[in-house]
Amino acid sequence: MDQIRIKNLRVYAYHGVYEQEKEKGQNFCVSAVLSVDMEQAGTSDEIGDAVDYGAVCLFIAEFMQENRFDLLEAVAGRLAEAVLFAFPAVKRIELEVDKPDAPIPLRFDSVSVRIERGWHRVFIALGSNMGDKLGYLERAVSNLQEDSHFRNIKVSDYIETAPYGGVEQGDFLNGVLEAETLYSPESLLVRLQKEEQLAGRTREVHWGPRTLDLDILFYDELILMKKELTIPHPDMKNRLFVLEPLAALAPHYVHPVYRRSVGELLAELKASSVL
Ligand code: ATP
Ligand code: CA
Ligand code: CA
Repeated sequence: MDQIRIKNLRVYAYHGVYEQEKEKGQNFCVSAVLSVDMEQAGTSDEIGDAVDYGAVCLFIAEFMQENRFDLLEAVAGRLAEAVLFAFPAVKRIELEVDKPDAPIPLRFDSVSVRIERGWHRVFIALGSNMGDKLGYLERAVSNLQEDSHFRNIKVSDYIETAPYGGVEQGDFLNGVLEAETLYSPESLLVRLQKEEQLAGRTREVHWGPRTLDLDILFYDELILMKKELTIPHPDMKNRLFVLEPLAALAPHYVHPVYRRSVGELLAELKASSVL
């Protein structure tokens, strides 16, 4: 992806834990690497979709000056998100905020914090088999749409499916949501679990009835195997109710473990269930 690089933008600002840092201020240096999605500007031909690096520099300087944070981590995190919101064509930002004159009674060149933030493409499986199923799914989608950490949300059609996993229970309504998100994989899981709780989800029987189930299917090309989070979702290749709506949104998306497209996985599952 194309990049814009800003090196050592000097800004006088007022961040720090000490009173004196907030009152007198000090020098900060900001460096940034912006990965820019030129496709958006290429398609729309709108100047608003292109990234003007002069405007980015001014934006960073103003943000640094108009806000006051205790920690460099907070300065960097909030600034990175602000840039991503203000310049939609910026897909990813690596940001380093440097305090060359930090109040430390030792000799040093500078102390800095370096972070990386960006929009990640995710697919989330939606399911419900209790009460007002469509209502639960639609409310979850609209809550995620209201959350500024998501954008470009697309939702497949919902399909009615028989329950999976051997527990006696009502039919499911299933679908898949595609979005770009600023959440890390772990924060995304927490965010989705909050949504399940809002829908009154209780965990009683594994694979049992639920008002709302939100599973992370893909997160970019990430492969993650932790106790509380496995990405891609491990059982998706055996689930028609996942692969069908997923293939409707992204048939060519390649599963990073199996190295086969969603369309191919769907065709294989259909073929094997006919046997
Ligand atoms: P399944 O994951 O097989 O569809 P389930 O959705 O019924 O089963 P839950 O009771 O909803 O299972 O979740 C159990 C745990 O699975 C969650 O607490 C979460 O930590 C973990 N988990 C692991 N990987 C994922 C993932 N990709 N998406 C959502 N939850 C996950
Ligand atoms: Ca599930
Ligand atoms: Ca789940």
